[in-house]
Amino acid sequence: MNAMKCNDCGFSSTPPMPVCPSCGSENLSAVELSGKGQIYTYTIVHMGFGRMQERCPYALVVAELEEGLKMTTALIEGTDLEKVAVGDAIEFDHTAEGIGPLFRKSA
Ligand SMILES: [Zn+2]
Repeated sequence: MNAMKCNDCGFSSTPPMPVCPSCGSENLSAVELSGKGQIYTYTIVHMGFGRMQERCPYALVVAELEEGLKMTTALIEGTDLEKVAVGDAIEFDHTAEGIGPLFRKSA
């Protein structure tokens, strides 16, 4: 899983951007993320749209990664939505075409 880190202010973001969203610097480095983190907050989506519609219901989560970044993602199909909670350990599973990175609950 890739992200970028700003060499001037230290801000990290994923997906990588050409310019630092925090300070506007173009002095950036590509960094590899562990893909591990926890659920910062989440919601269960029952009515999706676009490519996510057929995946409903699913857990839309804000993941807080080990590296300190937060990103919006979703949990993979087959996740027991009754057992999703804030603070759950999650990890990167795969990137879905047209959707983006998806996470699964860590064992
Ligand atoms: Zn910056």
